[in-house]
Amino acid sequence: MTTHTISLIGPQFTGDQKNHLPEHHEKENTMSNTYFSDDGNYGPANGLIMFNTDGWSPEMWQEIIDVEDNERSSLAVHFSSGHHPWRDAMCNTCGLTPFELGVLEV
Ligand SMILES: [Zn+2]
Repeated sequence: MTTHTISLIGPQFTGDQKNHLPEHHEKENTMSNTYFSDDGNYGPANGLIMFNTDGWSPEMWQEIIDVEDNERSSLAVHFSSGHHPWRDAMCNTCGLTPFELGVLEV
């Protein structure tokens, strides 16, 4: 079993080291984060969030598929929160019913 150490934060530079960095590093002042997963996928990890999706219903996954790209992560945050403001027997935020959300009690 190999143990992997994951660093989500880039190297920290002291003031003295910073003076030796190439000039473009100081100008951009941004860090590139890339995710790598066991299935071989990798890509830009800007704004990356992870949730335990055990128990997400097929209806929830369909909503994740259907939603606009720029709204997908906030919908995932909403699902993960488990807080659904109910109105007229459906969530006022995601539009799913308690049954579709797998919620037994409202
Ligand atoms: Zn909801």
